[in-house]
Amino acid sequence: MMDVGFIGLGTMGSRIAANLVKAGFSVRVWNRSRAAIDELARVGARPVESAREAFSGDAVISMLADDDAIREVIVPLLDDAPKGLVHVNMSTIAVASARDLATQHTARQLAYVAAPVFGRPELAAVGKLNVVVAGDSTAIARVEPLLDVIGERVWRMGDKPERANVVKLAGNFMLGAAVEAMAEASAMAWRHGIAPADLLDVLTNGVFTSPAYKTYGALIAKEHYDPAGFRLSLLLKDLRLALAAADSNAVPMPLADVVHEALLDAVAHGDGDRDVAALAKVAMRRAGREVAQGVQT
Ligand code: NAP
Repeated sequence: MMDVGFIGLGTMGSRIAANLVKAGFSVRVWNRSRAAIDELARVGARPVESAREAFSGDAVISMLADDDAIREVIVPLLDDAPKGLVHVNMSTIAVASARDLATQHTARQLAYVAAPVFGRPELAAVGKLNVVVAGDSTAIARVEPLLDVIGERVWRMGDKPERANVVKLAGNFMLGAAVEAMAEASAMAWRHGIAPADLLDVLTNGVFTSPAYKTYGALIAKEHYDPAGFRLSLLLKDLRLALAAADSNAVPMPLADVVHEALLDAVAHGDGDRDVAALAKVAMRRAGREVAQGVQT
């Protein structure tokens, strides 16, 4: 059985790692804060004391928050990593960083596979993510048994890792646009006396029946923003990355600008750690709900 390291036991990583343990893999786990390591140890993972100890064996999966975390935690490990190790990076990072990381790995005879995922923690917990994978095909073949446990489907995007990140960022831009569309529609309907829950019931069971609309529509309808399944500040990061990828190749994305600005508004009002569905608060505030509530009380 493959010996696997896992770095980054946040909302997504903890569930993915637990799932690999359940599937019978031997998983060495490391996280910056200790509590998550202890929790994984309780379900059968092998705790290690440093990221370096996790970055070894046949393969290592990283699921850190962003580019900064990868630079801080992973890059210093590359020089001493065992040659031939396959690093599967599932974090949503910049297209340019994925390209850089691939070069840095190759120079040290390490394999870099980009495998960002679609799906919230509930799906991660049951191995039903959509995994978008790109990188050297031999390296991907070696980690396929892991990807098959993690994902309901594994989508191959070719041998350049950054291609998977392009797809992921395009997808998260669309997710942000979907949530923003429901937020604005809910605000307009609310102003006309229609409860967002009633509006979204019609729409997400009628013409907008995809998982993205249904999942976030239900959260908006219930104003269920805590605890965050997908933190709003992480989606803001993704919109920044999508806009950077667009900018580098001179692609206007005006809708992405709108979503980016709404996310900034949410963060400025203290909602960065709440769920992405809290975009509805921004649209409601702009439609005067707080003023209306103030008048009533
Ligand atoms: P999260 O709950 O915030 O977890 C982030 C992880 O990164 C934690 O393990 C955290 O460690 C670690 N980390 C952050 N900065 C670090 C640093 N400077 N040094 C060391 N460790 C650091 O995020 P998440 O929801 O699991 O998301 C992880 C990645 O998956 C992100 O790139 C996100 O965009 C992507 N993603 C998320 C979802 C979703 O629905 N949540 C879906 C698909 C993809 P601590 O525990 O010590 O803070």
